[in-house]
Amino acid sequence: MSAGVRVGVDVGGSTTEAVALNGAGSVIARHERATIPGAAGVTGGIIAAIEAVSADDVISSIGIGVPGRVADGHVHDAVNLGISEADLSGPVAARFAAAVHLENDVRAATRGIGRQKQIASLAYLNLGTGVAAGVLVDGRVNGGSRGVAGEIGHLSIDPAGPVCACGQRGCIEAFAGGGAIAQRTGGGPFAVRDAFDRADDGDPAAREVVSGVARGAAAAIRTLALAVDPERIVIGGGIARLGDRLLAPVIGELERAANGSAFLGSLRLAARIELLPRGVPIGAIGAALSDARSAAIGVGAG
Ligand SMILES: [Zn+2]
Repeated sequence: MSAGVRVGVDVGGSTTEAVALNGAGSVIARHERATIPGAAGVTGGIIAAIEAVSADDVISSIGIGVPGRVADGHVHDAVNLGISEADLSGPVAARFAAAVHLENDVRAATRGIGRQKQIASLAYLNLGTGVAAGVLVDGRVNGGSRGVAGEIGHLSIDPAGPVCACGQRGCIEAFAGGGAIAQRTGGGPFAVRDAFDRADDGDPAAREVVSGVARGAAAAIRTLALAVDPERIVIGGGIARLGDRLLAPVIGELERAANGSAFLGSLRLAARIELLPRGVPIGAIGAALSDARSAAIGVGAG
């Protein structure tokens, strides 16, 4: 067993959370702080969070999950962090003299969920500002050959649907992404929750938004099930905080499709989905487990 702690950091738009894991993979320290947007603020927050959880311990590895596209230790297009491009791993590696692995936050969370639930086959569907998924196969997160594995938000499900930021029409993300909905409805950060509230009051335009969210989420779930056949499909992200208010229309949509197709019915999709448990630092734990020596979560076939 290697000496030292493995540190994981999950950088979100509002908070930065860090954990330290001991040799057995148990969380021995946890810290949360407000994220300061911009490259300098984000980097400073990561370093402060690592200092808080590692104290005087030797650090054997550092994993960092960030919302955005990651290549060669740099993050790109992290809109929620106010960063268009930044080297987040170099300054952290220099400060702590430890190997740093930077990756997309949805992938890190996928690994963390696998560890927490002790399952080696799962998909994580993140319904937030955007829509993306992580896939765990045989206990390993699949990144793909070009780093876009899981970007199912840009699968078009309706050629006559709303225009997406990516240039296509009717993407899953255009229906079920918080950013697209806020833009279309002129709402703020709570546009999706507002739409669910107004739909409950019978507002027809809001009902259309809600049915679009359900339609987009159900399409994402079908896509994940058909592409990778995971044991569980876990739904998280800002929109998932609606809880059963989200799950009910999504299950309704899955069951409607299943009623029209014996094949879809046989997949038992509604029984395979669940909401991400709250209060567990899954993204930070997954990031801590991301170093090359332990890329697999340690369950299932290996
Ligand atoms: Zn798109």
